[in-house]
Amino acid sequence: MSVVLVVNSGSSSLKYQLIEMAQERTLASGLVERIGEASGNVVHRHGEEKTERAVEIVDHDVAFEAMLENFAQHGPSLEEAPPVAVGHRVVQGGRRFFEPTIVDDAVERDIEELIPLAPLHNGANLAGVRAARRVFRSIPHVTVFDTAFHTTMPDSASYYALDHDVATKYRVRKYGAHGTSHKFVSEAAAAHLGRPYDQLRTVVLHIGNGASACAVDGGRSVETSMGMTPLEGLVMGTRTGDIDPAVLFHLHRKAGYSVDQLDELLNRKSGLLGLTGTNDVRDVTERALAGDQRAALGLDVYVHRMRHYLGAYLVALAGADAIAWCGGVGENSVEVRRRVLEGMEWLGVELDEARNAERVEGIHEISTDASRVRVLVVPTDEELEIARQTLQATGIAVG
Ligand code: AMP
Repeated sequence: MSVVLVVNSGSSSLKYQLIEMAQERTLASGLVERIGEASGNVVHRHGEEKTERAVEIVDHDVAFEAMLENFAQHGPSLEEAPPVAVGHRVVQGGRRFFEPTIVDDAVERDIEELIPLAPLHNGANLAGVRAARRVFRSIPHVTVFDTAFHTTMPDSASYYALDHDVATKYRVRKYGAHGTSHKFVSEAAAAHLGRPYDQLRTVVLHIGNGASACAVDGGRSVETSMGMTPLEGLVMGTRTGDIDPAVLFHLHRKAGYSVDQLDELLNRKSGLLGLTGTNDVRDVTERALAGDQRAALGLDVYVHRMRHYLGAYLVALAGADAIAWCGGVGENSVEVRRRVLEGMEWLGVELDEARNAERVEGIHEISTDASRVRVLVVPTDEELEIARQTLQATGIAVG
């Protein structure tokens, strides 16, 4: 029985999942929150049992100790279900990491060197890798990069029309994100449709609080909406997505915004939150349907941008075989899916209203039987994808 521990280490949180790979079954999962604050929160789930406690977590090393304590006290015991490898989520792999990579000191240094490209993420990811390597000394650690799936994008899709020397010196280009999810979902869509992955053209719409679209041609990402950072592209919960960069000059010159304030404004105070006052699509939809004008406008802008990208990616793929929805909104919002796919029959996209409105566990199809483009809802599972890639990278057998 091969068990993989998946670790997602953020700046103030540590999420983990212990997965048995033969049956791809989650044995336990947990979350250590508010690392570095006076009062941290620790949650652990094992089977039906959920435990929670408040305790101070000063840093990532202490967060790992809390995780180990959870396994020891609430199970499963890591002696009985010992992990054969640890898989780590890392956001930015730059042009250095094209695939999952077994960690050694040199890999750690390279991840560190990429921190300027993802200041909010890579440092925290690395802190998790280092802490985990101190705890699990005798098993391989594998880093799985959010950007790796997009390294197949052609230059035409990944270059910005910026001064070439500046772009090269500062490594400014489109790297994309959510790659682990786009890969998992497009692969699961192909399996569900009984089509070879290397022949299927899919547009994946990963729509959660963060959101991105990806055009996947035969298992290769050829276009994605997030850019050098996860700020570009679709309208998100709190992020603007695409915006004229001159807006930043304007706000700086006219309103005195500093770089940090602009960063905060665009990343945390904009998107649906900025437009409507809330970033929860359930609330926005309810309010819009009840006649609230700001919510209606917010939803319109949100949907408009998604249709813009979907149209572009159908062209990039010269027509798609499938559209796959995932993420909290993509998997749950009947209304957003309906509005985005409205009036696309001429493109071969025909939504079945009844199927769209049905609540179904797992992958399900929401297009009509006659629809040329199959439309699917595919619950994403980034942890499982990280575990699969981790095992593959180590060469350890699944069973
Ligand atoms: P994620 O980041 O993928 O976890 O997605 C979180 C977002 O999913 C939340 O902010 C909600 O806006 C959205 N969401 C969750 N459930 C629903 C639902 N039933 N209908 C619409 N949106 C939902």
